[in-house]
Amino acid sequence: MIMTLDNIIQEIEKAQSIVILTHETPDGDAIGSSLAMRVALKQIGKEPDVVIREVPKIFDFLPGRDEIKSDSDIEEYDLAISLDCADFKRLVGNEYFEKAKQTIVIDHHGSNKMYGDINFVNPVAPACCQILIGMFQYFDIKIDKELGTCILTGIITDTGGFRYSGVTPETFEFTAELLEKGVNVSEIYKRVLETKTKANFELMKRTVNRMEFLEDGKVTFTYITNKDLEEVDAKIGDHEGLVENGRDIEGVEVSVFIRQRDNDENTYKVSMRSNDYVNVSDVCLMFGGGGHERAAGAIVQGDIEQVKQKVMKELKKVI
Ligand code: AMP
Ligand code: MN
Ligand code: MN
Repeated sequence: MIMTLDNIIQEIEKAQSIVILTHETPDGDAIGSSLAMRVALKQIGKEPDVVIREVPKIFDFLPGRDEIKSDSDIEEYDLAISLDCADFKRLVGNEYFEKAKQTIVIDHHGSNKMYGDINFVNPVAPACCQILIGMFQYFDIKIDKELGTCILTGIITDTGGFRYSGVTPETFEFTAELLEKGVNVSEIYKRVLETKTKANFELMKRTVNRMEFLEDGKVTFTYITNKDLEEVDAKIGDHEGLVENGRDIEGVEVSVFIRQRDNDENTYKVSMRSNDYVNVSDVCLMFGGGGHERAAGAIVQGDIEQVKQKVMKELKKVI
């Protein structure tokens, strides 16, 4: 059911115990929106738990990072809030979501499955964090330096540093307000976008070397295996940004990057990015995945060659 902000605040006010959850392999928008929600709810007298099992090191500077739990003793929360996650099966800690008395989904993916009791989904918002700005203003929550830092982290990561088409005048207005409040925008930018881990850099070298140009140079394809991840001692999040290298080459419409899954050798996580006209979310939906028009993902079975063939068969229809 789609409901209003009044329904959301009513449920939050009623709840004694609240858990905040987000998607697997969490990015800046996932972690940023979860921590922002925590700071905001504390302001109105709540003590929510944030359950995220793995947090990339680059987000260690975020306010409230140390309060993140990998599990909780509470089995049955009054309220579970899912942020930046289109699909129940990608939600980490979905056992808490399933058992909670009331559930709220707040997201910006067009492919959202509306799996909450209350679903607040705005597919044109450039980041889940940007949805939270309007929501918090409506709830009369003061967006201070701490809260602003969490929100801006999500906006900067999901918009590739204010570059993608989803950016709105509000994105810049909000950033300008935060600058006035003393939030160090360039510092956040540097930490979450410009600083690479050593392992990420090593993976980039491999993916760039292996990159193939297909369909008259309109598609790039590259991959990473578990052996690569092991050899460079990759940690969670170290694959971030690799798919973008292919997309940013002249003449390329779609960049495809596949990464072997550690729990099943014969399964790959597929990431796609497009430039102008291919709706990669629709392509990924064919494999049970989803995302946004210009950035999407899915899980596909097979070895590298089989996954490549399956993906290219679908891409040929739209390229
Ligand atoms: P990624 O390529 O992992 O950075 O993901 C790009 C976008 O697609 C993000 O907005 C993800 O939420 C979404 N996405 C990635 N993998 C999946 C999946 N298996 N199912 C649904 N959506 C996905
Ligand atoms: Mn995300
Ligand atoms: Mn997002």
